[in-house]
Amino acid sequence: MQFVEALKLRSKLFFLFMLITIGLVLVGVMGYLNINSMKKNLDSLYFGSLVPVTELNEILQIYHGSIANTIYKARNSEISSSQTSSEIESSILNIEILWRSYESHFKRDEELQYVQYTDLEIIATNDYFKKILDGLLAGRTIDDISMESFEKRVEHIHTTLNKLINYEVEVAQYERKNFLKVYESIIQNVGIILTMIIFGVLIISYYVFKSIQNDHTRLEITTKKLQRANKKLENVSYTDSLTSLHNRRYFNFIYDRELKRAKRTKSYITFMMLDIDFFKQYNDTYGHLEGDFALKSVSKVLRDSLKRPSDYVFRLGGEEFGVVLIDTDESNSARLAREICDAVRAREIKHESSKANEFLTISIGVVCCVADEALDEEILISRADEMLYKAKESGRNGYIITTNVSEATAQRTEKIGA
Ligand code: GH3
Ligand code: MG
Ligand code: MG
Repeated sequence: MQFVEALKLRSKLFFLFMLITIGLVLVGVMGYLNINSMKKNLDSLYFGSLVPVTELNEILQIYHGSIANTIYKARNSEISSSQTSSEIESSILNIEILWRSYESHFKRDEELQYVQYTDLEIIATNDYFKKILDGLLAGRTIDDISMESFEKRVEHIHTTLNKLINYEVEVAQYERKNFLKVYESIIQNVGIILTMIIFGVLIISYYVFKSIQNDHTRLEITTKKLQRANKKLENVSYTDSLTSLHNRRYFNFIYDRELKRAKRTKSYITFMMLDIDFFKQYNDTYGHLEGDFALKSVSKVLRDSLKRPSDYVFRLGGEEFGVVLIDTDESNSARLAREICDAVRAREIKHESSKANEFLTISIGVVCCVADEALDEEILISRADEMLYKAKESGRNGYIITTNVSEATAQRTEKIGA
């Protein structure tokens, strides 16, 4: 039963553990997927818009800053003709590199047409500057260049590139908005899923723990029942069924325990052996059933006479009883023995075939001593037996007490007839 309960408990805990693990794995996978999609968005924002804008700005800068500046400086004779040529040449090269790089990035269908148009414009502008370069190399001077057409060219490419830059900036703003939307929805999704998982785990944990608690309560109830059943069983095995007094088994246990305790504390211990007088004759006269009634009556007298919690009464077998008293000196033990004898006779159970009295009587052998380490465990029983024998010899219906627990014959005995 306990094994099955423990198994149930274990599988429930395992289930809870699995659930938490699955929840965590799910959150991990979700996190991974969302971070990946965020990375894609960031990439398209960065490489799709921010980098191209920078490149286009740089191209514009080269047209304005490098080429135009070089031509103005050359016209003012601030730089030589060969310097002018090499600067224009390297600027054109840079523009071509930057433009190729710009073109290599992802392009939307809507912008392709304008990119192609700008491409043609850049080629045309670069060709225009290459012609100037060829002229310079062929020996013409910078003054031969028409400043009007030069400025127009620069102005035109400026406007063309600016349009493209504006477009890219708009796209960047759009991408950013998009990215923020995606980001917010991801955060929302993760939040919702996490909340759902947490609630799920909480609800299931609640039910699992509730069921564990129920199992525990059931287990406790079962254990209590089992304890009660064990107690009953123990009582049954320690109780005499006819008289309900403790039986010989229990006597063995108590006698051993109390003797050890008395030896430890060096205190009084009394053992009485009781036997109904002429009980065989009683059975013969009144029948076995009446004999049983008589045994029950005597048992009741014994129970009523010995009321202290430390007084133990046993049916040792047949019509023999035993009494163990703790911390009771000789005079009190004797008084109790007398009271028992008197009380049995006072029940006035008719016993016409008794040679001791007209009523049922009992004889008691009593031994009382202060226990010490030297006290033999069997001596109390054999002395009580001897005293009982003597009581019978002395006419029955009385007790004989001794305090002598040495191996030698009892020194001091007392016979009290009823
Ligand atoms: P004494 O005074 O010397 O003790 O005489 P007695 O007849 O009592 O002696 P004895 O011990 O020989 O007899 C005991 C009798 O007790 C024998 C038996 O018939 C009776 N007896 C033992 N157990 C039971 C029982 O459970 N029920 C009944 N009715 N009688 C029992
Ligand atoms: Mg007997
Ligand atoms: Mg007897």
